[in-house]
Amino acid sequence: MATLRLVLGDQLTDTIASLADYEEGDLVLMAEVAEEAGYVPHHKKKIAFLFSAMRHFASRLQGQGKSVRYVRLDDTDNSGSLKGEVERALDEGEFDTLVVVEPGEYRLKCEFDSWSEDLDCSVQIRRDDRFICSLDRFNAWAEDRKRLTMEYFYREMRRETGLLMDGDDPEGGQWNYDKDNRKSLPDDVSLPERAFVDPDAMTQDVLSLVEERFPDHFGELEPFGYAVTNKDAEEQLDWFIKNGLPCFGDYQDALKQGEAFLFHSVLSLYLNAGLLDPLDVCQRAETAYKQGRAPLNAVEGFIRQILGWREYVRGIYWRFMPDYLERNALEADRPLPDFYWSADTDMACVRDVVTTTRKHAYAHHIQRLMITGNFALLAGIDPKAVNEWYLAVYADAYEWVEAPNTHGMALFADGGLMATKPYAASGSYINKMSDHCKQCSYAMSKKNGPKACPFNYLYWNFLMENRERLEGNHRLSMIYKTLDRMSDDKREAVRDDSQRFFKRIGIEQ
Ligand SMILES: Cc1cc2nc3c(=O)[nH]c(=O)nc-3n(C[C@H](O)[C@H](O)[C@H](O)COP(=O)(O)OP(=O)(O)OC[C@H]3O[C@@H](n4cnc5c(N)ncnc54)[C@H](O)[C@@H]3O)c2cc1C
Ligand code: SF4
Repeated sequence: MATLRLVLGDQLTDTIASLADYEEGDLVLMAEVAEEAGYVPHHKKKIAFLFSAMRHFASRLQGQGKSVRYVRLDDTDNSGSLKGEVERALDEGEFDTLVVVEPGEYRLKCEFDSWSEDLDCSVQIRRDDRFICSLDRFNAWAEDRKRLTMEYFYREMRRETGLLMDGDDPEGGQWNYDKDNRKSLPDDVSLPERAFVDPDAMTQDVLSLVEERFPDHFGELEPFGYAVTNKDAEEQLDWFIKNGLPCFGDYQDALKQGEAFLFHSVLSLYLNAGLLDPLDVCQRAETAYKQGRAPLNAVEGFIRQILGWREYVRGIYWRFMPDYLERNALEADRPLPDFYWSADTDMACVRDVVTTTRKHAYAHHIQRLMITGNFALLAGIDPKAVNEWYLAVYADAYEWVEAPNTHGMALFADGGLMATKPYAASGSYINKMSDHCKQCSYAMSKKNGPKACPFNYLYWNFLMENRERLEGNHRLSMIYKTLDRMSDDKREAVRDDSQRFFKRIGIEQ
């Protein structure tokens, strides 16, 4: 008997384990289903990217001679769920085995685990071997460690892959060149013009479908310029290595009003959907360094994001789920302000990030961490609502990578499992790294009162609200000493300004 091989929307890789032993008579199943497209209100561009990339991948497999059953969202018999589509395919064919690669979300993993009992065939769930570090390897590293510090994990990955190694030593003598990578963007640096991809007929069909079926979802669908094939994603990588990588390190932490991409790669959506291979991307960056096309601080910084952070957050997610997302170490419970969806706020920095996000289903790391993430942290927004927002609005968002970044890194909701202290910052950090404050109706230099930058008083209010939970953290001891030196009147003003602000944005308690 034959095998049914289910391929998910983020498994668009020729060498995916579910297709490894494909034989004539087998059937590859791919399905656009309402359940997956709608369990959070995904950005229209995210849905369009995935559906179009799935359709292109299916036709590529057909071109290789594979038999593919592709279910479109608007097919009349579409059951609306992955399980429903598997059942339909099993009913209509003669299969004794279902093969699938493990999914990237705990929710789906639980569902797949239940299929062996529910379905009338044997179910094989295979390992996802598209990561540089297997989950067994990550767990072996994590076992018995008091702190799971990313930097030490990253060093082991450098040694194991040989990336940027000079024998047993790191290239250039240091493991990490982060201190060189914190420059703001000078006015005279010109940004490279992005090479986007014109949508072909298949993508145009998907754009019409998404507009028709998801009119109320967040975000702007067009113009649509993301790559949807492996070949075009490779071209985006080539473009980045030539035009973005040389300055990636220097301006990695910079922010600029109206500029979404700066020198960032915009490759996460392709990596996460399987259109690019992470080790290959790192090796291509390393080659650029060896050939003198990009400096070490840029290449090391870029490789660290993929070989270090990306692999590390995946390990953290699977090691600590499902408990991980139940944690709310700071007991934050205010609702998400409406401006996360509408961009209707006087805070120029937040408005800029939400506007960028609406346009592109993209924001770079510092926008996500130090603007929208920092605001949610300082304002004590419920982590569940924040996680749902990040999962919905970014084209690269899947829970395995979104949750540790949001829940752990941005919100400190995991109680410090990932970060040694909360990434909390006042307006002066944003002012140092960006030009937002010059264009804001609030005054960054004012600490209190109606014109004061909300990040300024919310920062101290956050420290006061969380005193019992955070003052034992030695990395915050100086800050708490500064807080203690403040007059009672000043502390009262911080509380009053914060309460007034929460009321004004509709999240007071
Ligand atoms: C609150 C928050 C939520 C996030 N949610 C997601 C998400 O849903 N999906 C996602 O892929 N990334 C997420 N990130 C990480 C990071 O912001 C994005 O990977 C990055 O902005 C993608 O843009 P880029 O491809 O231009 O990245 P670049 O800055 O060019 O970095 C290169 C690559 O490194 C990887 N990378 C960089 N930082 C991280 C990180 N912290 N974790 C994992 N991979 C990383 C990505 O694959 C990225 O493509 C989140 C970060 C924060 C602070
Ligand atoms: S003044 Fe405050 S709110 Fe306005 S842009 Fe600067 S940091 Fe953001």
